[in-house]
Amino acid sequence: MIVVPIWYFVILGFLFGASVGSFYNVLIYRMPRGLSLVKPASFCPSCKKHIPIFFNLPLVGWLLLRGKSACCKSPISVRYPLVELLCALLGALSVVLAEWGRPWGLEASEFKDMAALFWLLLGIVPVLLIDLEHHLIPDSISVGGIFVGLLLSIFPGGISVVDSLLGFLIAGGGLYVFGFLVTRFLKKEAMGFGDVKLLAGYGAIMGYFAAFEVLVMAALLGLLVILPMRFIKRPNGADFDESSKEEIPFGPFLSISAPIVYLWGDAILELYLSFIY
Ligand SMILES: [Zn+2]
Repeated sequence: MIVVPIWYFVILGFLFGASVGSFYNVLIYRMPRGLSLVKPASFCPSCKKHIPIFFNLPLVGWLLLRGKSACCKSPISVRYPLVELLCALLGALSVVLAEWGRPWGLEASEFKDMAALFWLLLGIVPVLLIDLEHHLIPDSISVGGIFVGLLLSIFPGGISVVDSLLGFLIAGGGLYVFGFLVTRFLKKEAMGFGDVKLLAGYGAIMGYFAAFEVLVMAALLGLLVILPMRFIKRPNGADFDESSKEEIPFGPFLSISAPIVYLWGDAILELYLSFIY
């Protein structure tokens, strides 16, 4: 039997990650502008001309053009290849992390972990970039996560289909009710529905308890970032205003916590319990 070496899958993860990064570039540009993700095909933001698929290849296209569009020579932001490179590296990382500390055996459960980590790690990129700037979480990531979780649960290893369904319902429903009550209590919008859908997706991928851990970790990370900001004077001398549009969204913290909990949730919980008892 020929054993396919792991580096082969690491390279596949890199290439697939770059391609997904290319799609996320489209998502990051079009979703907040309310444009369709599929129509029209890629166009130059300056002169609106169609971009041939050849120049649209992830990473390669930008390098071939040396950062200037073929149609009107307007500069193409370095953000595009950077997003593709980041996604490519995260794609390779998901293979490495899924295999870390276990024998390489091409088993279904290994591919399931690879796919889940690939989804969770790459998902950080659009959630971070879109939510920070526009306070929106794309449905293709949040609702997409629910479908990915249910699909993965069909395969052996990890959580079952029933646990995936329960995870989606309890995590999403729980956060929705929590947000509803806090909104009533504080009389201001406490939780966006985007966060609810995002957490529902994490529940479908790793079960409701892990989704709860994601929520707790995201809240702690959020405090670590937001508390210091309250003490920093802003450049114009004004205090940090929590009620302003500059309020920090919760989605990025959820998306960063998700792969951490997927990988080390049990270990972190054990560590925490060992401190208590
Ligand atoms: Zn152009």
